[in-house]
Amino acid sequence: MDVVDQAQVSMEQLAALQETTRPARAPGPEPTGYCLNCGDPLADPGRRWCSPECRDDWEWFDAFLH
Ligand SMILES: [Zn+2]
Repeated sequence: MDVVDQAQVSMEQLAALQETTRPARAPGPEPTGYCLNCGDPLADPGRRWCSPECRDDWEWFDAFLH
């Protein structure tokens, strides 16, 4: 039985839940009109990502770098 692995999974699940429920207004780069993760043009200039999946990917990579 690996308690550490189980704890990490639940932390990741909690973080994923927070990402999907939190408004996309965390400190970060200004919106450019294009998805910061995949580069797709965005209809709403106030958005920074085309989808929650792209936001999650970008934030994961950003966290990975810092
Ligand atoms: Zn995207």
